[in-house]
Amino acid sequence: MQHPAPWPARPNTQHLGLPFFDAAHRTLVAELLPWTEAQQVDEGDDRAACRDWVQRLGQAGWLRYCVPAAHGGALAQLDSRALVLLRETLAFHSPLADFAFAMQGLGSGAITLAGSPAQQARWLPAVARGEKIAAFALTEPEAGSDVAAIATEATLAGPARYRLNGVKTWISNGGLADFYCVFARTGEAPGTRGLSALVVEAGTPGLDDHEHLQVMAPHPLATLRFEGCEVGTEALLGEAGGGFKLALQTLDIFRPSVAAAALGMARRALAEAVAHARQRRMFGATLADFQLTQAKLGEMSALIEAGALLTYRAAWLRDTGAPQAERTQAAACAKMVATENAQRVIDMALQMHGGRGVQVGCKVESLYRDIRALRIYEGATEVQQLILGKAALQG
Ligand SMILES: Cc1cc2nc3c(=O)[nH]c(=O)nc-3n(C[C@H](O)[C@H](O)[C@H](O)COP(=O)(O)OP(=O)(O)OC[C@H]3O[C@@H](n4cnc5c(N)ncnc54)[C@H](O)[C@@H]3O)c2cc1C
Repeated sequence: MQHPAPWPARPNTQHLGLPFFDAAHRTLVAELLPWTEAQQVDEGDDRAACRDWVQRLGQAGWLRYCVPAAHGGALAQLDSRALVLLRETLAFHSPLADFAFAMQGLGSGAITLAGSPAQQARWLPAVARGEKIAAFALTEPEAGSDVAAIATEATLAGPARYRLNGVKTWISNGGLADFYCVFARTGEAPGTRGLSALVVEAGTPGLDDHEHLQVMAPHPLATLRFEGCEVGTEALLGEAGGGFKLALQTLDIFRPSVAAAALGMARRALAEAVAHARQRRMFGATLADFQLTQAKLGEMSALIEAGALLTYRAAWLRDTGAPQAERTQAAACAKMVATENAQRVIDMALQMHGGRGVQVGCKVESLYRDIRALRIYEGATEVQQLILGKAALQG
């Protein structure tokens, strides 16, 4: 049995007093904290644990924040600030819990944004209850940062069917999901204007999702192979040729929430470092008594607060309808700074633990592995730098 480590201290919630948040956000966190703290999920097997987390999050009503109220959700529209607070809190407790939560939103986001009433009724209420597991299938072996290079094709095979051929890889929840939102080339125009999104149910003949990928931290992933995989044209999400825009719109909602996950992990690392420094005895004092330790803790704290302000600002700008360019830059800034700062904070916390820091089973050791992929997925740090650099040159 491998349960999330008990919290060294309740996370600080001072930030909820910032003007980005309202009373509903404060209530959300006040209810979420004790629920999260009480969960004991065996995380020895990441796939089983992910299923368990989805079920629990669904039963407790937290997944309702991943879909709009018209389809069983908690709020009329997806609220970035609620998503950010949920992910930060869950990641503080268990990065796998955060992952299970986030994928329900990311995997169903294209249905929320562009699905027909029938598609929304079919999938979204089940996602909100935790009865169906969602996945988002964009990346391919030769098309990661370069989305325009997507080669998976969905060609019309008769009047009412698409036939998919190609490979998707690094797909979170691959082999576990009940359905995949797949981005494929339908050929309306060259490059990104010729992509469409389709919902493909797991188990559809011609879809092989059994090739699991093992990574350095618990995270269910697989490669998907489509070989003559046929779906009805009713699987198309939104307009043919509108897939790239839809993928970007989905990522636009969830990018600040990746920053929030990093923030939750960084806050946990700081809490672990403080607890350790207070009790570790050396040279006739505790580690916390030394100014060198206090300076490190201060630096960690400032790195976290910088990431936090950018994350909350990005979510607030989205919720309050700021112009698209401003939202994109704020999300890029938040994702880059919060994930990079979290990596530094976790590294400093690990260093403060000495040899224990690298011992398997020590919380900072697993955080050190958990944080790494966040600097890569949903746009690597370099991709965010380019977004910001181009904006600076245009401005
Ligand atoms: C744990 C995990 C989960 C994931 N989950 C999903 C998922 O659910 N669905 C999905 O579709 N994908 C998923 N991905 C894929 C992820 O989005 C890609 O890994 C990411 O977009 C980077 O693509 P790539 O791996 O092909 O790297 P590449 O595109 O080959 O990039 C390699 C590196 O090149 C650098 N780079 C990028 N652009 C430039 C540039 N213009 N100039 C210079 N350097 C540049 C960056 O440092 C980048 O990290 C996941 C990945 C991981 C690791």
